[in-house]
Amino acid sequence: MDEEIKTLREEMELLNGQLLELLSRRGHLARRIGILKDRLGLEYFDPKREGDMLKRLVEANPGPFSDASVAHLFKQIFQASADLMGMTRDQKLRVHRAPGDPDAVIDIGGVLLGGGHRQIVAGPCSVESEAQLSSVASLLQGHGIRLLRGGAYKPRTSPYAFQGLRAPGWEILRQVADRFGMKTVSEVVDTRDVENACRWVDVLQIGARNMQNFELLRLVGQTRKPVLLKRGMSATLDEFILAAEYIVLEGNRNVILCERGIRTFETSTRNTLDISAVPILKETVPFPVMVDLSHATGRRDILVPLGRAVLAAGADAVMVETHPNPAVALSDSQQQLSPEEFGAFMAGLAPCLEPACG
Ligand code: PEP
Ligand code: MN
Repeated sequence: MDEEIKTLREEMELLNGQLLELLSRRGHLARRIGILKDRLGLEYFDPKREGDMLKRLVEANPGPFSDASVAHLFKQIFQASADLMGMTRDQKLRVHRAPGDPDAVIDIGGVLLGGGHRQIVAGPCSVESEAQLSSVASLLQGHGIRLLRGGAYKPRTSPYAFQGLRAPGWEILRQVADRFGMKTVSEVVDTRDVENACRWVDVLQIGARNMQNFELLRLVGQTRKPVLLKRGMSATLDEFILAAEYIVLEGNRNVILCERGIRTFETSTRNTLDISAVPILKETVPFPVMVDLSHATGRRDILVPLGRAVLAAGADAVMVETHPNPAVALSDSQQQLSPEEFGAFMAGLAPCLEPACG
């Protein structure tokens, strides 16, 4: 009896090997079809053909597996083959990091980011006045910060909330940044403003709400300005990477990707900071990865541990909002750091910003 089981098992092992070889041959064929379909611009998935194949297989089913089991097994094989075809398409993305590709280094008017060059981006949520911004810039300069953020066109949830100073805000940002030897980061929300933004702003920010505004992505892709692309609040990393592809497709490879928290069921933070995004993005694309701690958390009390965590995970830059007097800020007052809090934040991060840690 035992002998018989042993023999049957050996026969089964042999069949496993043969099945594996057949599956692998099928996989190679699927890959070749994927490449040809790519060239012809055809869809990988052909539901009619798949339905016909399943029907023929079920009709030819000699048993003992049920028709449902045969259909299920082959469906899995078809799915795995379709995934293989998809892989050939994914490999084609221009944003993808090829094996051995070095990190991209973005030159922001002489301030380098990526490839070991780390930066802190800080400044108020919104540019409110020349006095407010100068006060912040002077604070940041004291900490050696070179990148000044400040929104002039604010995408606000409520149309009754402060909408930003608009174009005059950019003029203030430029003037103050020049005075303090800093470069500017500011959001552009509309295709009609891209040209003007290029006059005043060094890094064009595409906000979370516009991550899939494809016309805006194309237009900033036509400039050669560094683009800070924020992850949409409900966007998967694949969608985020494809949004970056829109920019790169137009010829602009000066892309910075920014994780800024995603929507989850958790309510103790404004969004949920997806730290896994950092190493996954770093591994997939060569561009610098930034983490916006302020919009990810909506709070000021947990930024040091999170800042350390994202730097340890490989982030090239961290963004935080800071205001001379957060209590009277016209937007995001609850999350902006006061000058004292900003000082404590920088001190908390300092050990992780030293080259030994990076
Ligand atoms: C911002 O940085 O000012 C902003 C609005 O961020 P987000 O697009 O990530 O919400
Ligand atoms: Mn804000």
